[in-house]
Amino acid sequence: MLNLHRERQAASLSEDSDTDIAVIGGGISGMSAAYSLLTQTDRHVIILERNLLSSGASGHNAGQAVAAFEVPYPKLIRTYGKELTDNTYAAVNNAVSSLKSMAEYASSEIADVEALALFSNLESAKERMKNPGSTCLYVPSDSNEPDAVKLDDFNGQTWSSGYAAATGYHSGIVNCPCLIENLANRLLEDYPDQFEVYEHSPADKISLENDAARIVCNGHIVNSSSVVMCTNGYGGFSLESGSPISLDNKIQPVAGYMIGRLTSPAPAGIRSYVPSNPSEPYYYVTKNFVNSQYVTCAGGLDTKLTSWKDIETWTQDDERKCSMIEAFLLQKLSGFSGPRNYQWKGLMGYTDTGVRLAGKDPNLDSLYYSLGCNGIGILQAVLSADVICKQIDGKAYPRTFFDPLVQNQDSTGYPDAVQLSMPPFRE
Ligand SMILES: Cc1cc2nc3c(=O)[nH]c(=O)nc-3n(C[C@H](O)[C@H](O)[C@H](O)COP(=O)(O)OP(=O)(O)OC[C@H]3O[C@@H](n4cnc5c(N)ncnc54)[C@H](O)[C@@H]3O)c2cc1C
Repeated sequence: MLNLHRERQAASLSEDSDTDIAVIGGGISGMSAAYSLLTQTDRHVIILERNLLSSGASGHNAGQAVAAFEVPYPKLIRTYGKELTDNTYAAVNNAVSSLKSMAEYASSEIADVEALALFSNLESAKERMKNPGSTCLYVPSDSNEPDAVKLDDFNGQTWSSGYAAATGYHSGIVNCPCLIENLANRLLEDYPDQFEVYEHSPADKISLENDAARIVCNGHIVNSSSVVMCTNGYGGFSLESGSPISLDNKIQPVAGYMIGRLTSPAPAGIRSYVPSNPSEPYYYVTKNFVNSQYVTCAGGLDTKLTSWKDIETWTQDDERKCSMIEAFLLQKLSGFSGPRNYQWKGLMGYTDTGVRLAGKDPNLDSLYYSLGCNGIGILQAVLSADVICKQIDGKAYPRTFFDPLVQNQDSTGYPDAVQLSMPPFRE
């Protein structure tokens, strides 16, 4: 957000309006949906954002554009079957090229990196190598493991010491708020008669019929043919839809924490530190060069919230969680001297299944979802936008387990019951 230099004046909805598609929420999900719809169809699109663009999770993340899920791969296979699971991984991986096209269109940069996940024991790393998208198993040069690449500078490469093995996976690094703002500017310029963005414009009441929607916002009415819900885990609106999917129970609010420190020049990169004991916290670090600044940021802890509104206040417990991340970095991250320059938290809306809910509602032709931040969601949001756009346009789209038809089966009950491969730390 520090690198976001907005020049555009925020406009808020001040009169009734008609549109083909109303996108509710101006994060990466909402803006990618607008991008896909405007560049691939001739539909008129309005974004309604209750605050400012990127004020949600999209303005507070680690920028790792990666085809990963918090639910372990074997569990995804057990829940959705191998074919659908592998198809979903492949589709999310392919979304990298959509993200790159979008970034190029918006003159934004994406760094390409091979990210590393660090493990204290070799067996866990070998297990992780079974995940689709894993590139290579790395070990220190004195290891006897025959199927791994030996690294002379293992500690240097892992930015740490005390880890036994690392697995590689491809990732992009993206500054979401800058990308979103650049996209808004370029789309408004290129589609002046087809695109409107309203900020400080919360959708308070959404009433849907099969082929039409009516949204109450700032005391005015937006009439649209379809609604795309990109609201993450924020509440505060009523949805009258007759759909079997109840968003009240579906998305639960969780706060995720990050700290940031301005650093001396370093190559862009991503490392995640997987604990040997699942009851211990998992931490992840992104180093990136953004505009004129080098930044190291790290996250990994979270807190289950009783209400999404809790994300708007800062408590002593939030302070303590950020201190814990800093303590980990001081102890483990080579060259990290602290103290943090920045700290923040962002809303992670968790679906009850731990994976995104994206696509057309099973019952209602006017309602589409791209919902549930689920801790890792940038690429997933970009893919979901493409799927929704193709569904609206009546074209073939990639089948994934994000589909509401699949998701509406009996849920596994996250956040309490689903075992996560990157366990958040919750007391
Ligand atoms: C600390 C942290 C670190 C993360 N790190 C990564 C990472 O490295 N890689 C990754 O892939 N993912 C990461 N994520 C997850 C990623 O940020 C999210 O998956 C993604 O940003 C979700 O985008 P979104 O547009 O769905 O939601 P959001 O960005 O939260 O956008 C939702 C928007 O909807 C608006 N809204 C809500 N209700 C209404 C309403 N009634 N009317 C109008 N507007 C409304 C909100 O104000 C908000 O702006 C991280 C998340 C956090 C919190």
